[in-house]
Amino acid sequence: MAGAMHPKIAIVGRPNVGKSSLFNRIVGSRKAIVESTCGTTRDRLYADIAWKGKAFTIVDTGGFEPAGRDDITRLVFKQLHAAIEEADIIFLVTDVTAGVTHLDRELAERLRKTSKRIYCIVNKADDRSRAAGAAEFYELGLGEPQVVSATNGTGIERLLDEVGRLIEKTAIVGAPASVKVAIVGRPNVGKSSYLNSVFKEDRVIVHPVAGTTRDAVDTDFDYKDRRYVLIDTAGIRHHLKLRESADFYGSVRAKEAIRRADVGLVMIDGFDGLREDDQRIINFVINEGRALVIAVNKWDLTKGVEMSKYTEMLIKKLNVIKNYPVIFISSTTRRNVLACLDAVWAAYERSKPMIAPEALKELLKSLNTAPEVMRKRIKFHYLVQEGVEPPEFVLGVKRAEALTESLKRYVENFFRASHDYAGVPIRIRYNS
Ligand code: GDP
Ligand code: GDP
Repeated sequence: MAGAMHPKIAIVGRPNVGKSSLFNRIVGSRKAIVESTCGTTRDRLYADIAWKGKAFTIVDTGGFEPAGRDDITRLVFKQLHAAIEEADIIFLVTDVTAGVTHLDRELAERLRKTSKRIYCIVNKADDRSRAAGAAEFYELGLGEPQVVSATNGTGIERLLDEVGRLIEKTAIVGAPASVKVAIVGRPNVGKSSYLNSVFKEDRVIVHPVAGTTRDAVDTDFDYKDRRYVLIDTAGIRHHLKLRESADFYGSVRAKEAIRRADVGLVMIDGFDGLREDDQRIINFVINEGRALVIAVNKWDLTKGVEMSKYTEMLIKKLNVIKNYPVIFISSTTRRNVLACLDAVWAAYERSKPMIAPEALKELLKSLNTAPEVMRKRIKFHYLVQEGVEPPEFVLGVKRAEALTESLKRYVENFFRASHDYAGVPIRIRYNS
């Protein structure tokens, strides 16, 4: 297999415990890759490390900007979920000078429920007297605390040796995180040109198709250590004969591709603008609960048009588009061809997390004090998340049938304002 994956280590913990310091200490002078995930304020730092013959990738999922004090718990949990999703090994970093805090306990409790290998890292143990305080952290139930000082480097080698042994013992190989993508759109918008331009990129490693190429309908490739499975590429490439068919778009084949996918990449022709068929297909992806990214192709032909104006125009035609990323690309010049893949990945990632119960409680509280909800004298009694991909919520309320559509929209917008769901359809049920 090309592009072998290394085991991934994610660093999580409360703010100020020294996560970035630890990341920097481990990475040292090696170069970290900063990845800005499209449409979010979140940056991730990745670095590939080789330690005594073992290779692994270390990820700093930090970089969140807490909006205010109240948001810290929510942000830390969000970061935690991202880490649980993508890492094989998790470093829960704590601060010996602060002792075991409430949030440390909550994080440890959540982590103990996962199947990942967790290390409790006790940082800021700069000298022996501080190191002595580390025993307290056994309480977190994550095994022997790893005592380190990011500032002076104490304990770091020991920690990496320990991780190296674990990798050897358990033969952890990085799970090839994957996303299934259906590329859909009207004929001639440039789907097959897009595919070809993706395959020409050096950073994309296409996997040879197993067996006979005749029956193969999906194509796999790796990009940034992620596996992309393109659903029904045969349907895209061999569409010529289908062009005559009037309802190609609503075709069973395109719908099946969307149903099998995690993300629908809907391509439109930037020169033509948003047609009725485009709108139908966008709505289909959303109704199926798939993450959605809109690619406006042939942007090279639309000289002088501002992207923001264009996006506004799209939203004016189809309001729901405001909740989904719009990427302007050119399959001809290959502009943003890879950015589109990043957007697809990011949208999928955002569809996966379960919001922590604490954070849901907060969300319910703020929803109940939101002006529109107060004005209508509505009180929601509980809020639970029932599912992911797409996220599904249930709100308890006295007379669900009396809620107006406009209030429901208000609630959805409220959810979206408090949590980053760009590219993700969310479902909210009301229970009486
Ligand atoms: P993060 O918010 O968890 O990423 O924490 P930072 O890495 O930004 O560190 C927070 C503060 O703790 C900074 O002022 C660091 O200089 C300090 N710090 C980090 N590691 C150590 C350490 O090992 N010893 C001491 N004394 N201070 C540290
Ligand atoms: P499909 O039917 O959606 O697969 O569309 P094709 O990939 O066959 O493209 C239809 C036509 O649009 C072809 O003539 C392409 O050369 C052209 N085309 C595709 N992408 C672009 C682009 O980004 N810019 C320009 N100028 N033409 C494009």
